[in-house]
Amino acid sequence: MLVKLVLARPARRPPASSAGFPMAHVDLLEPCPDVRVARIESAPFAENSYVLFRPGRAECLVVDPGFEPDRIIAWVVSQGLVPQAILLTHGHSDHIAGNDVLRDQWPRLPILIGRGDASKLGDPAGNLSGAFGIALVSPPADRLLDDEETLDLAGFAISVFEIPGHSSGHVVYRIDGCRPTLVFGGDVLFRGSIGRTDFPDGSFDALAAGIRHRLYTLPDDMIVFPGHGEETTVGLEKRHNPFVPDAPTTAGD
Ligand SMILES: [Zn+2]
Repeated sequence: MLVKLVLARPARRPPASSAGFPMAHVDLLEPCPDVRVARIESAPFAENSYVLFRPGRAECLVVDPGFEPDRIIAWVVSQGLVPQAILLTHGHSDHIAGNDVLRDQWPRLPILIGRGDASKLGDPAGNLSGAFGIALVSPPADRLLDDEETLDLAGFAISVFEIPGHSSGHVVYRIDGCRPTLVFGGDVLFRGSIGRTDFPDGSFDALAAGIRHRLYTLPDDMIVFPGHGEETTVGLEKRHNPFVPDAPTTAGD
Protein backbone atom coordinates (compact mmCIF):
# COMPACT_ATOMS: atom_id res chain seq x y z
CA MET A 1 0.00 0.00 0.00
CA LEU A 2 2.79 2.38 0.85
CA VAL A 3 4.64 1.64 -2.35
CA LYS A 4 1.48 2.22 -4.38
CA LEU A 5 0.97 5.55 -2.70
CA VAL A 6 4.45 6.71 -3.55
CA LEU A 7 4.48 5.34 -7.07
CA ALA A 8 1.07 6.83 -7.77
CA ARG A 9 2.33 10.33 -7.13
CA PRO A 10 2.70 12.31 -10.35
CA ALA A 11 6.25 13.27 -11.19
CA ARG A 12 5.36 16.88 -11.89
CA ARG A 13 3.04 19.24 -10.09
CA PRO A 14 -0.07 20.51 -11.80
CA PRO A 15 -0.47 24.29 -11.94
CA ALA A 16 -1.21 26.14 -8.72
CA SER A 17 -4.89 25.46 -8.70
CA SER A 18 -7.09 23.20 -6.65
CA ALA A 19 -8.80 21.94 -9.79
CA GLY A 20 -8.36 18.23 -10.24
CA PHE A 21 -7.03 17.54 -6.73
CA PRO A 22 -9.01 15.40 -4.36
CA MET A 23 -10.27 17.77 -1.70
CA ALA A 24 -9.16 16.75 1.72
CA HIS A 25 -11.27 16.35 4.77
CA VAL A 26 -10.05 19.31 6.76
CA ASP A 27 -10.76 20.14 10.36
CA LEU A 28 -10.55 23.92 10.56
CA LEU A 29 -10.00 24.90 14.17
CA GLU A 30 -10.11 28.31 15.84
CA PRO A 31 -8.08 27.89 19.01
CA CYS A 32 -8.01 31.65 19.55
CA PRO A 33 -9.66 34.57 17.72
CA ASP A 34 -6.80 35.53 15.41
CA VAL A 35 -5.37 32.08 14.71
CA ARG A 36 -6.63 29.28 12.50
CA VAL A 37 -5.32 25.73 12.44
CA ALA A 38 -6.30 23.37 9.65
CA ARG A 39 -5.72 19.70 10.35
CA ILE A 40 -5.36 17.40 7.35
CA GLU A 41 -4.99 13.75 8.24
CA SER A 42 -2.82 11.63 5.97
CA ALA A 43 -3.20 7.92 5.28
CA PRO A 44 -1.91 5.33 5.93
CA PHE A 45 -0.57 6.26 9.36
CA ALA A 46 -3.32 8.75 10.33
CA GLU A 47 -0.66 11.39 10.62
CA ASN A 48 -1.77 14.97 11.21
CA SER A 49 -0.42 17.65 8.92
CA TYR A 50 -1.30 21.17 10.00
CA VAL A 51 -1.64 24.50 8.26
CA LEU A 52 -1.30 27.49 10.58
CA PHE A 53 -2.39 30.97 9.54
CA ARG A 54 -4.02 34.20 10.62
CA PRO A 55 -7.36 35.25 9.16
CA GLY A 56 -6.93 37.98 6.58
CA ARG A 57 -3.31 37.11 5.86
CA ALA A 58 -2.09 35.01 2.96
CA GLU A 59 1.00 33.65 4.71
CA CYS A 60 0.78 30.25 6.32
CA LEU A 61 3.02 27.58 7.79
CA VAL A 62 2.81 23.85 7.09
CA VAL A 63 3.67 21.51 9.93
CA ASP A 64 4.73 17.91 9.19
CA PRO A 65 3.45 17.30 5.64
CA GLY A 66 2.78 13.56 5.44
CA PHE A 67 1.99 11.01 2.77
CA GLU A 68 -0.86 12.94 1.14
CA PRO A 69 0.69 16.28 0.18
CA ASP A 70 -1.69 16.75 -2.76
CA ARG A 71 -4.50 17.17 -0.26
CA ILE A 72 -2.54 19.80 1.63
CA ILE A 73 -1.74 21.68 -1.57
CA ALA A 74 -5.34 21.51 -2.73
CA TRP A 75 -6.64 23.01 0.46
CA VAL A 76 -3.93 25.66 0.80
CA VAL A 77 -4.43 26.81 -2.77
CA SER A 78 -8.21 26.80 -2.41
CA GLN A 79 -7.89 29.17 0.54
CA GLY A 80 -5.56 31.56 -1.29
CA LEU A 81 -2.78 30.83 1.18
CA VAL A 82 0.95 30.84 0.46
CA PRO A 83 3.26 28.76 2.67
CA GLN A 84 6.27 30.51 4.15
CA ALA A 85 7.98 27.48 5.68
CA ILE A 86 7.68 23.78 6.44
CA LEU A 87 8.13 23.15 10.15
CA LEU A 88 9.09 19.57 10.95
CA THR A 89 8.78 18.19 14.45
CA HIS A 90 11.01 15.23 13.61
CA GLY A 91 12.40 13.20 10.78
CA HIS A 92 10.19 10.10 10.66
CA SER A 93 8.82 9.33 7.21
CA ASP A 94 5.15 9.86 7.97
CA HIS A 95 5.96 13.47 8.97
CA ILE A 96 8.31 14.34 6.11
CA ALA A 97 6.93 12.39 3.12
CA GLY A 98 5.28 15.45 1.59
CA ASN A 99 8.32 17.70 1.64
CA ASP A 100 9.41 17.07 -1.91
CA VAL A 101 5.93 17.53 -3.37
CA LEU A 102 5.42 20.81 -1.53
CA ARG A 103 8.79 21.94 -2.79
CA ASP A 104 7.78 21.06 -6.33
CA GLN A 105 4.77 23.32 -5.87
CA TRP A 106 6.63 26.12 -4.03
CA PRO A 107 10.33 25.72 -4.97
CA ARG A 108 11.69 28.25 -2.48
CA LEU A 109 9.75 26.95 0.49
CA PRO A 110 12.29 26.42 3.29
CA ILE A 111 12.38 23.24 5.36
CA LEU A 112 13.10 23.63 9.07
CA ILE A 113 13.90 20.77 11.46
CA GLY A 114 15.66 20.23 14.75
CA ARG A 115 19.41 19.90 14.31
CA GLY A 116 19.45 16.42 15.81
CA ASP A 117 16.98 14.95 13.31
CA ALA A 118 18.24 16.65 10.14
CA SER A 119 20.19 13.61 8.97
CA LYS A 120 17.01 11.51 8.92
CA LEU A 121 15.71 13.52 5.95
CA GLY A 122 18.15 11.82 3.60
CA ASP A 123 18.42 8.49 5.40
CA PRO A 124 15.71 5.85 4.76
CA ALA A 125 16.92 3.79 7.71
CA GLY A 126 16.85 6.76 10.05
CA ASN A 127 13.46 8.00 8.89
CA LEU A 128 12.08 4.46 9.17
CA SER A 129 10.87 4.26 5.56
CA GLY A 130 13.41 1.57 4.80
CA ALA A 131 11.59 -0.79 7.12
CA PHE A 132 8.53 -0.50 4.86
CA GLY A 133 10.46 -1.13 1.67
CA ILE A 134 10.48 2.49 0.56
CA ALA A 135 13.68 4.46 0.17
CA LEU A 136 12.03 7.74 1.09
CA VAL A 137 14.24 10.78 1.15
CA SER A 138 13.38 14.43 1.54
CA PRO A 139 15.15 17.50 0.26
CA PRO A 140 17.70 18.57 2.87
CA ALA A 141 16.82 21.09 5.54
CA ASP A 142 17.33 24.78 4.86
CA ARG A 143 17.59 25.68 8.51
CA LEU A 144 18.57 23.59 11.52
CA LEU A 145 16.90 24.56 14.77
CA ASP A 146 18.38 24.50 18.25
CA ASP A 147 16.73 24.24 21.63
CA GLU A 148 15.01 27.46 22.76
CA GLU A 149 15.48 29.11 19.39
CA THR A 150 12.81 31.63 18.44
CA LEU A 151 11.28 32.15 15.00
CA ASP A 152 9.25 34.97 13.49
CA LEU A 153 7.33 33.47 10.56
CA ALA A 154 4.01 34.24 8.85
CA GLY A 155 3.02 36.62 11.64
CA PHE A 156 3.74 34.14 14.42
CA ALA A 157 6.28 34.29 17.23
CA ILE A 158 7.41 30.70 17.71
CA SER A 159 9.62 29.09 20.34
CA VAL A 160 11.40 25.81 19.60
CA PHE A 161 11.97 23.23 22.31
CA GLU A 162 13.81 19.94 22.04
CA ILE A 163 12.01 16.96 23.53
CA PRO A 164 13.90 13.75 22.65
CA GLY A 165 12.73 10.26 23.47
CA HIS A 166 10.49 9.39 20.51
CA SER A 167 13.16 10.63 18.13
CA SER A 168 16.49 11.95 19.34
CA GLY A 169 16.21 15.28 17.55
CA HIS A 170 12.49 15.86 18.09
CA VAL A 171 11.37 19.46 18.62
CA VAL A 172 8.01 21.03 19.40
CA TYR A 173 6.84 24.45 18.26
CA ARG A 174 5.14 26.75 20.76
CA ILE A 175 3.08 29.55 19.28
CA ASP A 176 3.44 32.53 21.59
CA GLY A 177 1.31 35.62 21.90
CA CYS A 178 -2.10 33.98 21.77
CA ARG A 179 -4.38 32.75 24.51
CA PRO A 180 -4.42 29.91 25.07
CA THR A 181 -0.89 29.11 24.00
CA LEU A 182 -0.58 26.48 21.28
CA VAL A 183 2.01 23.76 20.75
CA PHE A 184 2.59 21.62 17.69
CA GLY A 185 3.87 18.59 19.48
CA GLY A 186 4.58 15.93 16.87
CA ASP A 187 4.89 12.48 18.40
CA VAL A 188 5.65 13.54 21.97
CA LEU A 189 2.32 13.79 23.76
CA PHE A 190 -1.01 12.48 22.48
CA ARG A 191 -4.48 12.61 23.98
CA GLY A 192 -4.22 9.89 26.59
CA SER A 193 -0.95 8.53 25.22
CA ILE A 194 2.63 9.31 24.28
CA GLY A 195 4.92 8.66 21.34
CA ARG A 196 6.63 5.32 20.87
CA THR A 197 10.03 5.00 22.47
CA ASP A 198 11.11 1.64 21.08
CA PHE A 199 13.00 2.98 18.06
CA PRO A 200 16.81 2.75 18.02
CA ASP A 201 17.25 6.33 19.26
CA GLY A 202 14.22 6.24 21.56
CA SER A 203 14.14 6.65 25.33
CA PHE A 204 11.11 6.54 27.58
CA ASP A 205 12.98 8.30 30.37
CA ALA A 206 13.98 11.16 28.09
CA LEU A 207 10.47 11.48 26.72
CA ALA A 208 8.83 11.47 30.14
CA ALA A 209 11.33 14.00 31.47
CA GLY A 210 10.78 16.25 28.47
CA ILE A 211 7.00 16.11 28.79
CA ARG A 212 7.16 16.95 32.48
CA HIS A 213 9.76 19.69 32.25
CA ARG A 214 8.83 21.33 28.97
CA LEU A 215 5.09 20.81 28.60
CA TYR A 216 3.59 20.13 32.03
CA THR A 217 5.23 23.31 33.34
CA LEU A 218 3.12 25.38 30.92
CA PRO A 219 -0.43 26.61 31.58
CA ASP A 220 -3.12 23.95 31.90
CA ASP A 221 -5.15 25.45 29.07
CA MET A 222 -2.29 25.19 26.57
CA ILE A 223 -3.50 23.24 23.53
CA VAL A 224 -1.29 20.49 22.12
CA PHE A 225 -1.81 19.64 18.46
CA PRO A 226 -0.28 16.18 18.16
CA GLY A 227 1.07 14.25 15.22
CA HIS A 228 -1.70 11.67 15.54
CA GLY A 229 -5.22 11.95 16.92
CA GLU A 230 -7.23 14.77 18.42
CA GLU A 231 -5.77 17.79 20.12
CA THR A 232 -5.48 17.85 23.89
CA THR A 233 -4.46 20.22 26.66
CA VAL A 234 -1.64 20.19 29.16
CA GLY A 235 -4.14 20.14 32.02
CA LEU A 236 -5.99 17.14 30.65
CA GLU A 237 -2.81 15.11 30.21
CA LYS A 238 -1.38 16.09 33.60
CA ARG A 239 -4.50 14.66 35.21
CA HIS A 240 -5.26 11.68 33.01
CA ASN A 241 -2.27 10.57 30.91
CA PRO A 242 -1.62 6.97 31.96
CA PHE A 243 1.97 6.87 30.71
CA VAL A 244 3.32 10.17 32.03
CA PRO A 245 1.24 11.37 34.95
CA ASP A 246 2.10 14.68 36.55
CA ALA A 247 3.91 13.15 39.50
CA PRO A 248 7.44 13.32 40.85
CA THR A 249 9.70 10.63 39.51
CA THR A 250 13.36 9.78 39.56
CA ALA A 251 13.29 7.94 36.25
CA GLY A 252 15.42 10.01 33.93
CA ASP A 253 14.61 13.32 35.62
ZN1 LIG B 1 7.50 9.67 14.72
